[in-house]
Amino acid sequence: VDNMLTSPSSDSLPQTAWERCLGLIEDKIGQSSFETWFRTIRLASPVDGHVTIQVPNRFFADFIEEHFGRVIAESLNQSEIACKTLHFEPIEKDWKIIEPLSNTIKEGKEKAVRKTVEKRGLFHQNYSFDKFIVGDNNRMAHAASLAVAEAPGKTTFNPLIIHGSTGLGKTHLLQAIGQFAQKECTAENAVYLTSEEFTTQYISYVIEKKDSTSFYKRFRDTDLLLIDDIHFFSGKHGTQKEFFRIFNKLLLENKQIVLSSDRPPDKIPDMMKHIINRFLGGLITDIQPPNFETRMAILRKKAEIDGMSIPNNVIEYIANHVTSNVRELEGILIKLLASSSFTGRDITLDVTREICGDIFTQKNEPISIQFIQQRVAKEFSCSINQLTAHSRKREVSLPRYIAMYLCKKWTRQSLRSIGFAFSGRDYSTVIHACKKVEKLLADNGNVKKRVSGIEEYLQSIS
Ligand code: ADP
Ligand code: MG
Repeated sequence: VDNMLTSPSSDSLPQTAWERCLGLIEDKIGQSSFETWFRTIRLASPVDGHVTIQVPNRFFADFIEEHFGRVIAESLNQSEIACKTLHFEPIEKDWKIIEPLSNTIKEGKEKAVRKTVEKRGLFHQNYSFDKFIVGDNNRMAHAASLAVAEAPGKTTFNPLIIHGSTGLGKTHLLQAIGQFAQKECTAENAVYLTSEEFTTQYISYVIEKKDSTSFYKRFRDTDLLLIDDIHFFSGKHGTQKEFFRIFNKLLLENKQIVLSSDRPPDKIPDMMKHIINRFLGGLITDIQPPNFETRMAILRKKAEIDGMSIPNNVIEYIANHVTSNVRELEGILIKLLASSSFTGRDITLDVTREICGDIFTQKNEPISIQFIQQRVAKEFSCSINQLTAHSRKREVSLPRYIAMYLCKKWTRQSLRSIGFAFSGRDYSTVIHACKKVEKLLADNGNVKKRVSGIEEYLQSIS
């Protein structure tokens, strides 16, 4: 573990308690988030229950406070560091996400940028920030991307590394950064390359010119280097060495580097150790598959961009069936668009079922426990966490009973797995819930109406 983690700034501080606290936090939020957000923070002064934690900059402070404030306070108390108030102090006080350029500099830069645009062509228009939907799955990657696009080389996110499996928006973000930097003139010379292109170009330089110096020089003026899919460097030692040389040179000159990978960098096989180590000096952040709401939002946005009018129930139907990959979500929309333009039919749920039914039924069972939980939570306006938690308040216990009942009726899951999905409850709780709901269905019109509503929906999508 990095020693920044474990060395509080004063000897009198309860160091071991802080270490214990960090351990608890890591357990709670997972290693990946922990690495990203907690590797560089330190405990400054726990005085009389008023705890100050130092973080690299304002962006960090805001993000950590919003997302991990409660976890930190709770873990501090569990580690016997009393925490009544919690304060985050940015070390780089002047750090700003946006660095306004004075007009004259901006004009000069615009000219220079126009030149580079002509030279290198534009970035992919569709991959811009305003077409990127932000959800819990990509919030951090998006925020960091925007931060580096606004001030390349001036944030602590250097290099910025975005990882995640295929079709989740890595290329989109890299392109958006380049496009933004070019449009807003925050970088004069933004270069986007896939790792394959980088490798091929390097090899051709070596073969044709018999030396790599000219390749190296190619990046002389680059102030924003975006390299996509660096897992492709795996096992290519010559390319790695050259990449490392360019990477170091640019970092030394405070030029911005952004990389993407299909897995965390330290999991890329056969990659030079010192490259991986250098990555740790920046920000490594991941993108996860989008949740239901985000999938809906992405579909709506794509439909809007393509000028398609798609009813809500169709959007929901697709979002329910395509769960892991944004590229696939898009694929379905394109299929619908193509088909409706051939046949002239409006896109309705029936048409969609007809077109996509085969694709979807080959996939796993559409109605899952998680899906029912989502639906019930939505119906009763509570969160999934409230639905599955251990609270006994009626406003959540009734929806919880109903969700368990529906899981039993609509999925092929065992009582044991259903119980487990509700915060590890016992199967007897599920039986109890089912009996309770059956009784309510018999004597409570309101409950009956709401349950029927949900069941009608389940029927419509299965
Ligand atoms: P990756 O590079 O991670 O494999 P891409 O960036 O190529 O994925 O994304 C696949 C497709 O999904 C692209 O068309 C992209 O525009 C779209 N996409 C991914 N994530 C989002 C998002 N959050 N909002 C809008 N579109 C997205
Ligand atoms: Mg990609």
